[in-house]
Amino acid sequence: MAKIDPTFAKELQKYGTADFQACYSCGNCTAVCNLTDENANFPRMYIRYGMLGLKDEILDSKDLWMCYACGDCTAHCPREAIPGDYMATLRRYAIAHYEPTGITRLIFKNNPWYIAIIILLAVILGFFLLTLKPDMTISRWIFQYMPFEIIHNTGEVVFALTGLFMLIGFWNMFRHLSRNYRHEKKEKPKSSPLASLKYVINELTTMKRYQTCDSEEDGFWYKKPAVVRPWFIHWSIMWGFIGLLLATILDFLLKNPATTVWWPSRILGTVSGLFMMYGATMALYYRFSKITDAYAHSKLADWVFLWSLWITGFTGFWMETAVFLGGNDMLDQIIFIIHTIMAMELVLLFAFSKFAHALYRPVALYMYHRMALTN
Ligand code: SF4
Ligand code: SF4
Repeated sequence: MAKIDPTFAKELQKYGTADFQACYSCGNCTAVCNLTDENANFPRMYIRYGMLGLKDEILDSKDLWMCYACGDCTAHCPREAIPGDYMATLRRYAIAHYEPTGITRLIFKNNPWYIAIIILLAVILGFFLLTLKPDMTISRWIFQYMPFEIIHNTGEVVFALTGLFMLIGFWNMFRHLSRNYRHEKKEKPKSSPLASLKYVINELTTMKRYQTCDSEEDGFWYKKPAVVRPWFIHWSIMWGFIGLLLATILDFLLKNPATTVWWPSRILGTVSGLFMMYGATMALYYRFSKITDAYAHSKLADWVFLWSLWITGFTGFWMETAVFLGGNDMLDQIIFIIHTIMAMELVLLFAFSKFAHALYRPVALYMYHRMALTN
C-alpha cells in the first residue's frame, strides 16, 4: 500500500502551485476536461493524491502528460484551486525527480538559484566562445590559467554529461511509468506497439488532442482562427525548434554553408525560425496579457523558456540578415555570441528545465495509447 505523507502539499507549493488544498472534490474540473476519459481521472484525483502525499501515484502516472495546460478546469473551479496550474506543478515535480543530479529541483524550487545558474552558465559559455579566437587579448589571458585543450575537453565532457543526465532522466521516467504499465498489463493492451507509435507521431504532427481543448462552443477560442489558438502556438514552437535543430545539424555536417542564405539547410532554418518566433511571441503576449486562465499563472520557468527561445530566434535572424548583407561588425559579433550562448543554454538545460516535457510527453502518450486510449 502506498505511503501517505501529509507534508507533501508543502513540498508541492515550492514547485509553484497555489492553494490546491482549497479543493473540495466537486469534480467539475474532471467533468469539463476534454482530455480525461474513463481511464484517467485528472485533475481531481491528482489533487487527492497531492493532499494525501501519494508521491508514487504521481511519479508513476502517465496522465500528468496527457494534460496540455489549457486551463478549462481552472475556469470552472468554484474554489479557485487552479487545477490546471496544479497539473503543471506536478509535471515540474516529476521532471525534477526523474532528473538525477538535483539541479532541476533547485531550479524549480528556488528562483534566485535559477537566475544564478542561467547567468553563471552564460558567463562560462561566453569565455568558452572567446577561446575560439585565440589571438584575442582576453583569450591569451584565459590561456595563462587554463590551456586551450583543457577548456575544450571540459566543454565536451560537460555536453556529454548533460546528454547522460537526460538519458538517466528518461530511463527514470520510463521505469516509473512501467510500474503502472505492468500493473495495467494484467489487462490485455488495447493497441499494438506499431499502432501506438503511429498514434504518437500523429498526435505530435497534428496536436489532435490539444485541438479538442480549444473547441468548446462556449470557450474563448471557439470562433478564433486556428493560427492564434494555443494548440497551433504550441505546434509552431515545437516544430520550429525541431526544424532549427535539424538545420543546425545539417549545417554542421555539410560544413560551412553559412555563406549563403539559399542553401537548403539555411532555408529550413529560416522557415523553422519563423514558426518558432511566431509561437514564442504569441505565447509571451498571451502570458503578459493573461488572455485566458491557462496563461494567468506563469512561473519563472515559463518566462525563461519562452524568452530563451525568442532571443535565440531574434539573434538568429539578425545573423541571417548580416550574412545576407555581408556585414560583420562588432555588433554582429556580439549578437553572434549572444545567439550561441542562448542556443547552448537551451541544449545544456534541456534535461533540467520545462523543456524536458518534449521527451517525456511522447513516452507517456505511447503508454497511454497502448493501455487505455479509445479515441
Ligand atoms: S473543480 Fe476545483 S474544487 Fe472541484 S474538484 Fe476540481 S479542483 Fe477541486
Ligand atoms: S488544464 Fe486542460 S487539459 Fe489539463 S486537466 Fe485542466 S482541462 Fe484538462
